[in-house]
Formats: sequence, C-alpha cells, structure tokens
Amino acid sequence: MARCPLCDIASRSPAPDSGHIAALDQCLVVLGDNQGCPGWCVLILREHVEHMDLLGVPRQRAVFGEVARVAAAIRRVFPTSGAGGGPVRINYECLGNQVPHVHWHVIPRHADDPEPRNAVWGWEPQRLRGDLSPDQRRDLARRIAGAMT
Ligand SMILES: [Zn+2]
Repeated sequence: MARCPLCDIASRSPAPDSGHIAALDQCLVVLGDNQGCPGWCVLILREHVEHMDLLGVPRQRAVFGEVARVAAAIRRVFPTSGAGGGPVRINYECLGNQVPHVHWHVIPRHADDPEPRNAVWGWEPQRLRGDLSPDQRRDLARRIAGAMT
C-alpha cells in the first residue's frame, strides 16, 4: 500500500518549522500549507481511518469538538477581520478526495476575501498558497496555539 502522507505527519514529532499548533486527543493541528486565507488550519486524525462514519459517534463528537476549538482559536487571533469579531465566515471541510485519511480543513474567510460566496478550491494555486513568509507562518502558528483553550 502506498504511504499515506497524513500518517507520515502524524507519526513524526513536530518540527519547529512544520506549522505545528497542537496535539489534541484525537487530532494533530497544523497550520495549512495553503495560507491564501490566513489562519487556515488542518486537523489530522492521529490514526489512519478513511471515513468519519467509521469512528463511531463518541469519537465523531470528540473530533468535531476539536474542530470547533480550533475555529474558536482562529476567531480570537483575528478579532477584527469581519464585522462583529472574527472572520466573516469559517468553512469546515472534511473531503478526503485527494488524501483518504480523515482530516478537517478549518478555513477562515476574512472580510477581504476575493470570492466570499465560493469554496476556495477553485482558486489559482498561487492565491491558495498565499504569500506568508516562513517567519509569518511560524508566528501565526504560535498565535493560534496560544489562543487554544
Ligand atoms: Zn493515513
């Protein structure tokens, strides 16, 4: 079987430059490679399971609780990026089309979002990736980690 890239990440101890944010009971939290929406986080289930429905209801609840904690942390880090505090919208996506290992994208859609009514997946690769420097990525990961409660 081909190696699963998310199992690889889950099996490594976090490197300082990996965008590591937190190791929770169910999931690792990392800053996404794509930062076209600054603060985009990815939660990676710690074990290889392909479908959310295979986890059973208690673990599904635990996973989604962690997803919601990350969203709340993003909101705290960007309190003014939309009206009323926090990003205008947060997209929660569990797709698996490209990597069939349960992972959740938590994508803040800020007030300056160029296409607020569409999912991000149609964006050009360069726009998806964004233009954060390595230092800015590290700083953002640290700020989100600090905002986790
Ligand atoms: Zn895997």
